[in-house]
Amino acid sequence: MIYTELLKQIQIWAIELGFSQVGVSDVDLSEAEGHLKKWIAKGFHGQMDFMHKHGSMRTNPNELVEETIRIISLRFDYFDKSIIAYEDVLKKPQKAAISRYAMGRDYHKLIRKKLKNLAEKIKAEVNDFNYRVFTDSAPVMEKAIAEKAGIGWIGKHSNVLNAKAGSYFFLGEIYTNIPLPISKKASFHCGTCTKCIDACPTKAIIAPFQVDARRCISYLTIEHKGPIPKEFHKAIGNRIYGCDDCQMVCPWNKFATDSKVTDFLPRNQFDQPDIKELMKWDEQTFLKKTEGSPIRRIGYKSWRRNLEIAYKNQ
Ligand code: SF4
Ligand code: SF4
Repeated sequence: MIYTELLKQIQIWAIELGFSQVGVSDVDLSEAEGHLKKWIAKGFHGQMDFMHKHGSMRTNPNELVEETIRIISLRFDYFDKSIIAYEDVLKKPQKAAISRYAMGRDYHKLIRKKLKNLAEKIKAEVNDFNYRVFTDSAPVMEKAIAEKAGIGWIGKHSNVLNAKAGSYFFLGEIYTNIPLPISKKASFHCGTCTKCIDACPTKAIIAPFQVDARRCISYLTIEHKGPIPKEFHKAIGNRIYGCDDCQMVCPWNKFATDSKVTDFLPRNQFDQPDIKELMKWDEQTFLKKTEGSPIRRIGYKSWRRNLEIAYKNQ
């Protein structure tokens, strides 16, 4: 099969599997490498040592998977209009706000399975096709790859966004050795807007495209281990897992498209749980209630730490 035809077929299969968009990037990530190095040099990664411990593997796809010449980048939407709006939960101090992506099923396994399924379909057509699939699971420059593959541009808040779909989506990648046609890089449409920078509760977006993770509520409530510096407690408000504020104010999210699956709909009323009720959970209950949820990975200690801050902020 000619590669242009094959890409068209891949797009059809991907849509059938629940993905919303497919693009192809080459493996030159040198521009992104420069940005990453500067970001790490400033210490903006905080405790996320995994951002530099793999050396140049993150920005050189061939070092991660030999003979990679193309990366298929895929978008998987998790938004659903039926969920109570995050901005409404922020106004209810007795309720806890959880980042929208984390209210339902953990996306890692689900998307990985779909990526493998897609890759196996390609393999059945092209015998020489070698691949590895990733979704937020290895040293992969997901956002830079998505931008090069035309999925969307990197906004001033450093998330990928798309003019027809906003930014509430997961990304997945298939590294491969076959010369699929390369997609056109996404163009930039933030213009003069600074809404995300202005709305950030902790002023973590210190300049366009530069997020100091050490100030970011998403990082502080999920990645950061140990006590959260006191200076951020008040600004954290009732956010107990992640923060969607910069995405919430982004004008492009009025075009956010609903997920094609129900897996990401809220479990345990995670769209607006009651802080007092969550405070009653012991470790066993936490483990049981967060089974199959991305929230589980922060562990009970960090969960309690976050809850106690939200409780005091009531
Ligand atoms: S996630 Fe929240 S704290 Fe982090 S940059 Fe966005 S608005 Fe700021
Ligand atoms: S809020 Fe404005 S500046 Fe920020 S990502 Fe959206 S369009 Fe870009």
